Amino acid sequence: MPARRRTATAARRAATRSRSSAKKKWVYLFASGKAEGNAGMRALLGGKGAGLAEMTNARLPVPPGFTITTEACNAYFAANKKLPPGLWDQAEKALATVEKVAGKRLGDPANPLLVSVRSGAAMSMPGMMDTVLNLGLNDETRAGLEKLTKNPRFAWDAYRRFISMFGRIVLGIRGASTTDPEQKGPFDLALDEKKRRTGAKSDSDLTPAALRELVDEYKAIVRRETKREFPTDAKEQMRLAIEAVFNSWFGKRAVDYRNQFKIRHDLGTAVSVVTMVFGNMGDDSGTGVAFTRDPNTGAKELYGEYLVNAQGEDVVAGIRTPSKIAQLRTEMPKVYAQFEKIAQRLEKHYRDAQDLEFTIERGTLFMLQTRSAKRTARSAVRIATDMVREGLITKDEALMRVDPSQVEQLLLPGFDEKAVEKARREGRYLAKGLNASPGAATGRVVFDADRAVELKGAKQLVVLVRPETSPDDFHGMIAATGILTARGGSTSHAAVVARGLGLPCVSGCTELDIDLAKRVMRVGGKTIKEGDPISIDGTTGEVFAGALPTIIPNFKAETQLIELLSWADKRRRLGVWVNADTPEECRLARELGAEGVGLARTEHMFRQAERLPIVQDMIMADNTAGRKQALDKLLPFQQGDFREMFTAMDGLSVVIRLIDPPLHEFLREYHDLDVEIAVDKALGKDPAEIARKEKIWKRLEQITEDNPMLGLRGCRLLLIFPEILEMQIRAILGAAIDVSEKGVKAKPEIMMPLVGTMGELDRLYEQVTAVAQTVFTERGKKVPYKFGTMIEIPRACLISDEIATKAEFFSFGTNDLTQTILGISRDDAQKSFLTQYVEKKIIPTDPFQVLDRDGVGAMMRISIEKGRKTRKDLKIGICGEHGGDPSSIALCHELGLTYVSPSTYRVPVARLAAAQAALAGAGERDR
Ligand code: PEP
Ligand code: MG
Repeated sequence: MPARRRTATAARRAATRSRSSAKKKWVYLFASGKAEGNAGMRALLGGKGAGLAEMTNARLPVPPGFTITTEACNAYFAANKKLPPGLWDQAEKALATVEKVAGKRLGDPANPLLVSVRSGAAMSMPGMMDTVLNLGLNDETRAGLEKLTKNPRFAWDAYRRFISMFGRIVLGIRGASTTDPEQKGPFDLALDEKKRRTGAKSDSDLTPAALRELVDEYKAIVRRETKREFPTDAKEQMRLAIEAVFNSWFGKRAVDYRNQFKIRHDLGTAVSVVTMVFGNMGDDSGTGVAFTRDPNTGAKELYGEYLVNAQGEDVVAGIRTPSKIAQLRTEMPKVYAQFEKIAQRLEKHYRDAQDLEFTIERGTLFMLQTRSAKRTARSAVRIATDMVREGLITKDEALMRVDPSQVEQLLLPGFDEKAVEKARREGRYLAKGLNASPGAATGRVVFDADRAVELKGAKQLVVLVRPETSPDDFHGMIAATGILTARGGSTSHAAVVARGLGLPCVSGCTELDIDLAKRVMRVGGKTIKEGDPISIDGTTGEVFAGALPTIIPNFKAETQLIELLSWADKRRRLGVWVNADTPEECRLARELGAEGVGLARTEHMFRQAERLPIVQDMIMADNTAGRKQALDKLLPFQQGDFREMFTAMDGLSVVIRLIDPPLHEFLREYHDLDVEIAVDKALGKDPAEIARKEKIWKRLEQITEDNPMLGLRGCRLLLIFPEILEMQIRAILGAAIDVSEKGVKAKPEIMMPLVGTMGELDRLYEQVTAVAQTVFTERGKKVPYKFGTMIEIPRACLISDEIATKAEFFSFGTNDLTQTILGISRDDAQKSFLTQYVEKKIIPTDPFQVLDRDGVGAMMRISIEKGRKTRKDLKIGICGEHGGDPSSIALCHELGLTYVSPSTYRVPVARLAAAQAALAGAGERDR
């Protein structure tokens, strides 16, 4: 096509696109009991926009406004940060309706309308994006506001707040640094200076005259920093604020948050422009946040807090410590009654616990937001099971309401009571704050987020201690094991984010006197320095100096969880087994609902204190006889372990994998032996001892490999040293016979690691069969056993049809399978590049945590199809770490695995995740 025609066509196409874009509906109105949107339009209007629309339609008291869609946000970025054609016209039209309903006009000095311009994505991202309040103020409208309210202080205060907020968010003027108290933004410095000069203790002590001066100073700051006047045209303010809120979608905080919670980056944010209502118009005004049920315990009662005579963000920001919502009943009984009724209505309407934001302007209640309440694991389980009992939701819905990863939290360790008592007696109790997010954490104190990240990188446990947290601290919060703040209530940023992350948090611990500059805090008569260990209990709110030991929680007391999991068991198709290496783990796992042991790693038993020297002797031996001697000593230990495990799992399968790791792993303590030998020689130490060490060193040199994970390990060891296989089979079958004589039903399943060829599997099969025959003859008794293999080498996937001729079961070792398919070292990759790969979005998730569907998943599919072609009823499990990861479990369900085998505490997680996978699958089939 000639260039000119191509240009003409492109221009035509662009014109068509622009025409259809102009016609597109970008703006949805909500006003006077009618909204163009509804709750089902979250993706388009964001959670906030959809909630405002739904509440408006339900005729709840919502200030009028309009929502600009997430599509508009995406179009804005697609057009290089230009508002799409048609958007502004639609916004102006919607504004005109809002003005009519409110009886005020934006920018009208006689009767000014003020609006908030709020962000709101489809997924809740609390505090991660920007919002501008009090928009529409300039010198004239401020004067109008003063006249109407007869409250000059209010009008000046609203104006100075607006200039600084707009200055920071829209004009990009630097705000206060959250990590360095010395680094304040120009607005904060001016405010501090004003307070100092006038002797005002807090912002609310500033007189109207001082605020007025501050407004002039703020304007001068804008002039100096941006080289232009503060924009006075209200519509221009609105347009700039809308663009700034769009831009905050790609702000650092928002991007970090989405990475952490695996939220897509192409969803965009909606923008809601809402008529301002003021909670700071006197003592008959206020603002608050409340949950329809307690987000910590799930108890069915209003839970929340409010501040009298305060504006919008003050509650969440934790600047003042607010009052409990119950107090509103006495302070403003009528408003409380109305609010309680609305809360109940909203909960029934959404059939879920809600998180509500409200403002009271001169005795009139306004609802600003409703959204599904974030909650702790305990609360999620209780709310779901209670709602089933109340007839509000079905059991299947209840199952879908609880996040499986959260369930692990319920099994989180708490502090050992005795140790807590002792700490009290020793005077280590420091203070008590709010029990904002449950669980116990011990770690070194750090006072800023960057330091937390640094120490985490150095493999240290840290507790992040802050006066209060803000969204800028997020990266530090995810690096910490617990969070402690001096200010802020149970709906403050720290509390909400910690609950979402499943981190223990104590907030509003007012006794803390934190000196960020000196990096110390004084509390309970003690001075705690950065780096000192402390312990915080998010369940009780208590803080202790030093580290406290923790204890394992009591699953039996979790009756609601047990009930929920019993519903899950009826729905899931996948079995849930467990990876367990000791009898204690087996007993606990069985209590947690495990239906078999999917992986017992026998080498873990080798590492126990009295056994390791025997294993080392075996490795040192340079002939079969020497090795056998050591193995004979190991046999009774192994056989004893297996007896106890079979007894604990009476009647259930126990998959025992023969030795797997490279031998040098048992000789770690000798890694610096060459240096020791040199020193010993220099000091003229005992020659016999030196000779012993030299022998070990020689052997170590012989068996050390450059790539041990691809070297002599797994079944290769068993083929090179068949006497190890013999000892292990003797121990397994001997133990099975021992316990069967006591009436225990042992079901041993013997599993080979790292098989990649039939040459290996055939020989292993023959050797196992031969040893079994010998044991049965020796004991004069036979017990049933199964012979199977791990699938953890790509080649094993490709020849699974042949493998299944010998193997009676498969178990995917997805740790090694991921390593071998992706060619990424499971031991080194996280510290060298994998974390960065995930951060930089080179790969979507860490493949060692979440199964790589397209690579490893595809290989698994091939293996399953081939394996089951040979053996129709082939039992197939997974025993890699992925067996406890909910999204990987969903893939295992889809692939038709027989069971998943997670670590002990993830057994309940897997039971729920497997049920959710089955329910989601059924939903898909129904569609
Ligand atoms: C695996 O590779 O997934 C597995 C379970 O074995 P290990 O982690 O012991 O290598
Ligand atoms: Mg493995």
